Amino acid sequence: MQLIGTAAVGGIGIGRVLLISGFKEPQLQPVKDSNVELNRFREAAEGARRELQKAAEETRSLDAAAAEMIEAQLAMAEDPEFLASIEEAILEGCNFEYAVWATANKYADILRSASDQLFKERAADVLSLAQRIIAGPESGLFINDFARGGEGIIVVAQDLSPLEMTRLLGLNVSGIVTERGGLTSHFVILAKSYGIPTVVGVEGVLDAVVRDVVVIVDGNEGVVFVDPSRDLLTAYESRKNQQIRSMERLVELAQGPALTLDGTRILVEANIGRPEEASEAIRLGADGIGLFRTEFAFINRIAPPSEDEQFEYYASVVEAMRSKPVVIRTLDVGGDKHLPYLRVAEESNPFLGLRGIRLCKKYPEILKVQLRAILRASAYGEVGVMFPMVTDLREIFWAKTVLKEAMDELESEGIPFDRSLRVGVMIEVPSAAILAEELAPHVDFFSIGTNDLTQYTLAVDRGSESVRDYYDHLHPAVLRLVRLVIDAANKHGKVVAVCGELAGDLRATKFLAESGLRVFSVSPSAVPVVKDAIRRLELPSETKGV
Ligand code: PEP
Ligand code: MG
Repeated sequence: MQLIGTAAVGGIGIGRVLLISGFKEPQLQPVKDSNVELNRFREAAEGARRELQKAAEETRSLDAAAAEMIEAQLAMAEDPEFLASIEEAILEGCNFEYAVWATANKYADILRSASDQLFKERAADVLSLAQRIIAGPESGLFINDFARGGEGIIVVAQDLSPLEMTRLLGLNVSGIVTERGGLTSHFVILAKSYGIPTVVGVEGVLDAVVRDVVVIVDGNEGVVFVDPSRDLLTAYESRKNQQIRSMERLVELAQGPALTLDGTRILVEANIGRPEEASEAIRLGADGIGLFRTEFAFINRIAPPSEDEQFEYYASVVEAMRSKPVVIRTLDVGGDKHLPYLRVAEESNPFLGLRGIRLCKKYPEILKVQLRAILRASAYGEVGVMFPMVTDLREIFWAKTVLKEAMDELESEGIPFDRSLRVGVMIEVPSAAILAEELAPHVDFFSIGTNDLTQYTLAVDRGSESVRDYYDHLHPAVLRLVRLVIDAANKHGKVVAVCGELAGDLRATKFLAESGLRVFSVSPSAVPVVKDAIRRLELPSETKGV
């Protein structure tokens, strides 16, 4: 069966389906023998505990924070009060599935009504545990799949949160297919970093697949084949091998600098979200890290990471990049990324709410600790720090004040750091783009975040499938703002990069280079491809000296 969606991450993925979703709420059903139900429940609960224990062990070395979440579920699976309430419901005549679901919901309601955000988040854990007990391995997001070894998995889901995506990264994922999601949804960005072929907006895919069925994901054309014929499979396997070979060739070429035909040097750096990606960026020929998203150090845990933990996290990237520049972006949560330990009143438009630097203004200590850790890492290489979601000069002044405080503290404590570390801002809010001329004298560099700039300029939610057709980073209004920012930076002799997905879109390479852009920052897997495109450009003479 062939299904059509939107191509989100190029490449071909072949593997067996891991279905994430499809859980149907159990109904109350007549029961003949409560003891039989009790046994079924005890067996299922024991199975879930075993799976969780195994998964916790296997995850610990890959992702400590994910292991913590699994352990939280395990604690609940062993909670005598929780188990006794379920057994009580079974003895009152409920079928085991219904008893588990109803009891878990009762617990979840109590947790959700607590004022503490942390408890609210635990509600989801209880429900997810209940699903695991009821559906067995079928419900397991990653639980069983560590056991699958080398075999590729095609993840099929309605949508994926950044949190779910970070959990999936521990698996051997060959492709992703979702019913929902926009082209710059954070899970898509992560999939791109890891070069996982992805097709979004595939209506009906959840009904069309069953667990373990073979699926081909064609991320180039936006097509998905369920249970393909032998011939189709062979054809796609050879196409996939061909693509791998041509990518290998591009990777070889990408080890050198990207010069246009007329000899202009253009840097192609990488965007990463986790330290492990740095070595991949190097392997793929990145000239540096143009955007290190730090959010993933903060999500998936119950308290913020300490200064020392963060220092290790950032320094590992700086060291892995072997003296190539690394731009570390300060915390950008809010929007679609939430932290249970930073309380924010519910917002009806979270992308327009307390996000990025705004949230840091509410919790300045979080930023201060992060800046101290980034500064400490700057002693080990060439580091730039970058502030997200800046709207105007006031935020730049505020952020620089906190940075200066952090520097003064470290100095008085005799801790080494690079006092001349470069300070930059993301230009991703239209007001900042319009004011670029005014902002430029106060920073060392700009990095244009076209994902948000597109979202905010065109008033289109970047993660929504219903307005996906309106989301266009090649829209003239967006490109005009991009050009405005490049001009402003170049006029003031400041470095300017584009780190949004536009930088990796080959339809924009010529426009950006001709506009005077000399730093592209793209997903690691796009580095060789963009370098190759740059090498084919001949810049008009008036843009060469920029
Ligand atoms: C952007 O907005 O373009 C960007 C690079 O940041 P993020 O995708 O993390 O919001
Ligand atoms: Mg952004």
